[in-house]
Amino acid sequence: MSATKNILDTHKDFPTLKRMINGKPLVYFDNGATAQKPQLVIDRINDYYQNENANIHRGVHTLSQDATSAYEEARRKIQVLINAPLEEEVIFTKGTTDGINLIANGFSRGFLNSGDEVIISEMEHHSNIVPWQMACEYTGATLKVAPMNDEGELIFEAFEALLSAKTKLVAITHVSNTLGTINPAKDIVRVAHAKGIPVLFDGAQSVQHMAIDVQDLDCEFYVFGGHKMFGPTGIGVLYGKKEWLDKLPPYQGGGDMIKTVSFEKTTYNDLPYKFEAGTPNIAGGIGLGAAVDYLNTIDWNEVHTHEQGLLKYATEQILQIEGIKIIGTAKNKAGVLSFVHDKAHHYDIGTILDQLGIAIRTGHHCTEPLMHRCKITGTARASFAFYNTKEEIDVFIAALKRALKMLL
Ligand code: PMP
Repeated sequence: MSATKNILDTHKDFPTLKRMINGKPLVYFDNGATAQKPQLVIDRINDYYQNENANIHRGVHTLSQDATSAYEEARRKIQVLINAPLEEEVIFTKGTTDGINLIANGFSRGFLNSGDEVIISEMEHHSNIVPWQMACEYTGATLKVAPMNDEGELIFEAFEALLSAKTKLVAITHVSNTLGTINPAKDIVRVAHAKGIPVLFDGAQSVQHMAIDVQDLDCEFYVFGGHKMFGPTGIGVLYGKKEWLDKLPPYQGGGDMIKTVSFEKTTYNDLPYKFEAGTPNIAGGIGLGAAVDYLNTIDWNEVHTHEQGLLKYATEQILQIEGIKIIGTAKNKAGVLSFVHDKAHHYDIGTILDQLGIAIRTGHHCTEPLMHRCKITGTARASFAFYNTKEEIDVFIAALKRALKMLL
């Protein structure tokens, strides 16, 4: 599909954005937590349940075959979107967390041993910390944490210095949900591969902001969820290089992931089904396919220019307010604006903004170790998507000034 849609026309495609909240038009700046869904996605899920609902893969009847084709078509759409070489390298999961757990679980069973190391960074979401802590606990391996500077950028030399013969995996976020930092993904892969170390990227926060090309990145694993990329919740994707997915053990046992079963021995199915035990989230997969159809109508260069414009404008405006400090000032940032105020609590700011129709997120953003690193308990975070507008930032800044007046 050709890229045709003007980015400034996209707002109207998302029905939730038309809502009034407390008598005010909604300004939705919580895209980092989840993105809104275009009508196309909502209609596709509705249509599936209305006209095609059936279990997939083993049915001989028409409904089952229709549902199977739609679900497998969605896999192919994802393959093209992220430029995966093979369709079977696209594994459907429940989401980012599920994808990371799948790999951590696989690594725990034969790929990590006492004395081995896994490297993450200081800016990880709990989803890319806890599964590795668990894997280390089971295996006796050690978790190493690459530091960041005060701007929220990975200290690359320090990261590189951690890589050694003991390192069995680097697992790092592509874009930080709290700081917006875009990590130097290709450089990370380059230095890790120079030592023969595989790399997993947590792509939860990148897929809504940029085109992802897993062949260009050359990473072994890339993990993301559907709901932050304008698709449904409960569905996500693990991309993995075939050679790795072939050698990792299955995550869960059950239907669909087997070739043959007897009480004595089970043989496992081929990729991608080896990692997809049980009835999957069929509607979610099909809905995610529709989200890809929508993304195929926009131009990622336009998304980039527009979101960078929003970020720059919001940053300039917010810095004019006394007492505000931005948390995360990396040179290379996605549209995420985390901030604290020296007198007002982020929770109070978020609550008053909600009364004024503005949805932002407050708290630790599932990055408690990062909060400790920054010596704060939480931030207020406005996170932008391509459907947001400069006018919405004006409304947000005016409301923030009003909230601070009420609080101070
Ligand atoms: N990693 C990052 C960077 C995230 O922002 C999130 C979601 N906030 C996750 C992982 C986890 O995603 P999910 O809860 O959708 O599995």
